[in-house]
Amino acid sequence: MELLNIKNLDLAGKKVFMRCDFNVPMDEFGNISDDRRIRSAIATINYCLDQDCAVILASHLGRPKGVVDEKYSLAPVARRLHQLLKREVVLTSDVVGEDAINKANTLKEREVLLLENLRYEAGETKNDVELSKKLASMAEFFINDAFGVSHRAHSSVEGITHFFDNEHKAAGFLLQREIQFFGKLIKSPVRPFAAIVGGSKVSGKLEALINLLPKVDKILIGGGMAFTFLKQMGYDIGASLVEDDLLEDAQHVMDEAKKLGVKFYLPIDVIAADKFAEDAVSKIVTAQEIPDGWMGLDIGPATVRLYREALNDVQTVLWNGPMGVYEMDKFARGSNKIAHFVADSYATTVVGGGDTADLVQRIGVDEEMTFISTGGGASLELLEGKVLPGVESLIVHH
Ligand code: AMP
Repeated sequence: MELLNIKNLDLAGKKVFMRCDFNVPMDEFGNISDDRRIRSAIATINYCLDQDCAVILASHLGRPKGVVDEKYSLAPVARRLHQLLKREVVLTSDVVGEDAINKANTLKEREVLLLENLRYEAGETKNDVELSKKLASMAEFFINDAFGVSHRAHSSVEGITHFFDNEHKAAGFLLQREIQFFGKLIKSPVRPFAAIVGGSKVSGKLEALINLLPKVDKILIGGGMAFTFLKQMGYDIGASLVEDDLLEDAQHVMDEAKKLGVKFYLPIDVIAADKFAEDAVSKIVTAQEIPDGWMGLDIGPATVRLYREALNDVQTVLWNGPMGVYEMDKFARGSNKIAHFVADSYATTVVGGGDTADLVQRIGVDEEMTFISTGGGASLELLEGKVLPGVESLIVHH
């Protein structure tokens, strides 16, 4: 797939609107815990600045749901950008209000403006045309470098592309690299190919799981999503996270795996806790013996051993979603051990998703991975063979 290339645009001295993905994870003190997504956008921003552009950056952060909430302000992102770019970054106080429009209008060459959180505007996630139009009116060129949200048809991602012709829009370097990497990965993965899928919910990853099945040789499940499968298999899962309305779908995934000959792994033991907290009482129990009222918050040591064994002969690993509540030290062990094992392997190792990237970064094995994608959901949809809405109108049709 060939995308409209930023290098073919006549950008010199022009005003550029760049959609970035600065949706970075924060720690309990409100500090950015992994700035990979910000660092990953620097190449494209610098390219524009080197062309003497006036650069307007825009992103969402978290889910403020259409209302202004200080907690989701992009101020920490503006400060980090300032550090990384070594130049002033002005943050607007609104998205498309008076302040943003004024500052965008008066922005000069080689200056950088950052709009406040796009999701302060309720229209953003609804792909509202009026919002797209207002955002588009700020600049002469549109660059999408926000791989992590390219699977969303949102105003600043999809809607906005319709206000620019092919000579005035393109994919940034980050988006290009991600699309190319996953394109190659789907076309000819070196086998055996394993997917490690974790995280909180089956719901968000159900379709991805179904679509991954025909492509992979093994699937290893971890995280909260494992319990919906375990429950469906007849285990007592205590107070663990479960999606009761998806039990049948879970069965369907397991049936499909069997049909396709994909080896499907579930945790055989877990770290169970009496509450969802760092100071919970916890113990290692087999999947058969989760006590009533206790919840599984991490995979146990036997599962770690089993998964290492299963990953031993694998040549390609795709990892999306933590094995447990890795934000709490007590329940981070499973994820950490898997991370070290994957990092040490000679396989092609691909990590997708903010949380998974954050966790490999926290334990310092990020450099050992072959590729860390800035988009979890987006990379899964690419692997499903979907054309991402934010990428669609940037494709070059010959
Ligand atoms: P997701 O956003 O679906 O990728 O899920 C990531 C989140 O899943 C992380 O914040 C983890 O804390 C959480 N998580 C992982 N394992 C569990 C579990 N066993 N119970 C509850 N939450 C979990």
